[in-house]
Amino acid sequence: MNPTDALARISIVLSRTSHPGNIGSAARAMKTMGLSRLVLVSPKSFPHPEAETLASGAGDLLAQARVVETLDEALADCTYSLAVSARARDLGPEPMLAREGALNLISEVQAGAEVALVFGNETAGLSNEEIQRCQGAVMIAANPAYSSLNLAAAVQVLAYELRVAAFEGAPVVESKSTPFASVPATHGEQEGFYGHLEQVMVETGFLDPAQPRRLMPKLRRLFGRARLEKDEVNILRGILTATQTRR
Ligand code: SAH
Repeated sequence: MNPTDALARISIVLSRTSHPGNIGSAARAMKTMGLSRLVLVSPKSFPHPEAETLASGAGDLLAQARVVETLDEALADCTYSLAVSARARDLGPEPMLAREGALNLISEVQAGAEVALVFGNETAGLSNEEIQRCQGAVMIAANPAYSSLNLAAAVQVLAYELRVAAFEGAPVVESKSTPFASVPATHGEQEGFYGHLEQVMVETGFLDPAQPRRLMPKLRRLFGRARLEKDEVNILRGILTATQTRR
């Protein structure tokens, strides 16, 4: 796949954005680097004239933007998503630096995967739940005493790194040499598995819903590291179903 096509297939997901101006600036940042797929999760105000103004010549990206209610909907068809966050989180994936994150995304796209970068709200950033729904995390190395960039500025940095990675030729993963034995599980399939696992743990008494502690986040982290494949999700869910029918 040529670099231009690779960039055009990457989704930029903005979660719960408060300021419509930031949505416009993010669209502009994307278009300057050849990105075009914008997904908005429950934006506070959109469409909005301020978004149009700040998008400048990138109004077409706003017009094509997909607006959804939840991050799960935004990521449903993705097999690889990275949370963009300034802070390393408890139990979240170990963050990589922007350059490495961009290279990984380009390699995945080249291998045919659906991929996304997820950015958080201006005030609160991404919640732990949102970060745990991604396969990895990326941070922009910044001044430790003041490390929080404006949302659209963060989109610009990552978009630039993606462009550099795409054109410098990230190692092209041929279908023969993908790390996957089958095809990677989609976000929707992974969430189906986590829901099923939680249900069986409750049914068997292993998990007390009144005192869940940090069991699910820890298990999400474990399976997130493993990069589950479709076949593996089917096997795991088969085991869960067998446990349910035997009891
Ligand atoms: N106060 C929030 C910052 C929100 S900034 C917090 O502490 O998390 C809005 C978004 O821009 C963040 O959710 C993140 O996606 C991105 N961002 C800002 N600075 C960043 C940095 N240094 N590294 C990675 N992402 C950053």
